[in-house]
Amino acid sequence: MKKITIYRERCKACGYCINFCPREALSFSEEINSKGYKPVQVDEERCIACGICYSMCPDYVFEITKE
Ligand code: SF4
Ligand code: SF4
Repeated sequence: MKKITIYRERCKACGYCINFCPREALSFSEEINSKGYKPVQVDEERCIACGICYSMCPDYVFEITKE
């Protein structure tokens, strides 16, 4: 099983990952991180841990791990 981890404090809400997710699993959350942005959140039911968001994000917000 693969798992996605989001480091919310690193997110600057640029939206790249949301645009490229093939499963529409990502969206902006309502919380505010320490940089003043609404970081992304993942719908784990939709996510297939493909790693595209990991590749796209310029701020290393995502980690894909095997459980
Ligand atoms: S690409 Fe990275 S910095 Fe941009 S919204 Fe997605 S997680 Fe945040
Ligand atoms: S791992 Fe793939 S399916 Fe999951 S949130 Fe990232 S881009 Fe979307």
